[in-house]
Amino acid sequence: MSETIDFDYLVLGGGSGGLATAKRAAELGARVALLEPAELGGTCVHRGCVPKKILWNAAEVAHHLHHAGEYGWSPPAATSFDWPGMAKKRVAYLERLGGIYARQLEQRGIVHVRAAGRLEGEGRVRAGEQLLRARHIVIATGGLPYRPNLPGAEWGLTSDDFFQLPALPARAAVVGAGYIAVELASVLAALGSEVQLLVRGNRLLKAFDARLGQQLTEAFVAQGITVQFDHAVKTVEKTADSQIVVTGADGRCEPFDALFWATGRVPNLLQLGLDTVGISPDPDGVLRVDAQARTPVEGLYAIGDVTGEPALTPVAIAAGRRLAERLFGHGNPPPIDPEMVPSVVFTHPPVASVGLSEMQARDRFGDAVRVYESAFVPLYHAMTEDKPRTVVKLVTTGDEERVVGLHMIGPGVDEALQGFSVAIRMGATKADFDHTIAIHPTTAEEVVTLR
Ligand code: NDP
Repeated sequence: MSETIDFDYLVLGGGSGGLATAKRAAELGARVALLEPAELGGTCVHRGCVPKKILWNAAEVAHHLHHAGEYGWSPPAATSFDWPGMAKKRVAYLERLGGIYARQLEQRGIVHVRAAGRLEGEGRVRAGEQLLRARHIVIATGGLPYRPNLPGAEWGLTSDDFFQLPALPARAAVVGAGYIAVELASVLAALGSEVQLLVRGNRLLKAFDARLGQQLTEAFVAQGITVQFDHAVKTVEKTADSQIVVTGADGRCEPFDALFWATGRVPNLLQLGLDTVGISPDPDGVLRVDAQARTPVEGLYAIGDVTGEPALTPVAIAAGRRLAERLFGHGNPPPIDPEMVPSVVFTHPPVASVGLSEMQARDRFGDAVRVYESAFVPLYHAMTEDKPRTVVKLVTTGDEERVVGLHMIGPGVDEALQGFSVAIRMGATKADFDHTIAIHPTTAEEVVTLR
């Protein structure tokens, strides 16, 4: 028999955005139900940021082991990576995180419904036998990896599968040139795979300032990663001995032990019953919302990767908290400025970027743009045979030289970006950077000593 239960707020999805909005709403006194059939934490915790960063740390150790001899240590006797052992430890940690989220919901009186929700008209969500009703409903169902529609595409793995691998593939192909492609290629190579990056275009990280992709390519090649530009994959086959054979549009044909599609992600909106409230995703698959996370349907909102906003955990969390505060609090928090979202690509070396690229700034401000750049070998590499360069690039505009973009690649830039982002968001000028005393010797000091 169907049971009807009333709440103030229904949250569809228990990833970063869903958890954040549910918790903030409950703290503000709302009666909240969160619907999530899988583990709490979503992509970021179980198949994204967190396990990725753990493996990035493992890769960091690999790079340090590589340089150990150059730093006066006798070279370690054997350096092989225990993939299954590390995976077990990683999974145990992620399970612990899932448990922490469950307790956080419980402590706030949030009802966790372990089922997928489906809209059943305005203000109503079906979850199995239960019909849940609320004045406010938010869709926070995240995204899924996208596989191109090519013959044999099913033989390729996705970033989700990467975390389930029983062993490190000896020879791996990674298709794509965005965040996931370069992060996967970088970690696989550091842990011992022979890696080819198959890029259909002619540069890495197209969405970033061009200087970063250029420098990352140089670093990858120096590390032994093969970067193949203008390589559009046409077909994928699996041979009798489980080799994955990739054929490019130009006839290039190569065998690998594994192929990873890192060709983007799509919003997870199917099965949600959007038709029952008379809306559908845009042609590009996203559910468009206004600056206050509202869909065209009264009382229905969306946050995170389903919306087409930057698909980054902190953006989903900020959108979720702000929405809860608008609905159940007293203030009206400002909308997120998508142009001021800092982000880091966790490659070796890492890439960090906030604001406008040089090209975007020139398109908008023309000749008023002035760019400052420094490329240098950081002190760490003064002692090593390999000499990858760190690049720091500041984009300014106008007579007052307001900083509108900061783009960096090199060891340590991942941690350096956050603080600079505060200053840039507050409208800092080049003079403000110049008047800040440097911290010596660091990479970050280059940002305040650019000439
Ligand atoms: P991206 O949008 O960053 O990159 C997709 C890449 O796939 C592009 O290089 C694109 O090429 C290529 N591509 C698309 N279709 C094909 C095809 N048919 N054949 C060959 N190449 C193709 O997506 P990702 O999957 O890397 O990441 C998804 C999102 O997840 C990111 O946008 C980011 O928001 C988030 N993320 C953030 C991370 C972080 O903060 N560190 C880490 C990982 C993910 P082209 O440029 O030619 O279109």
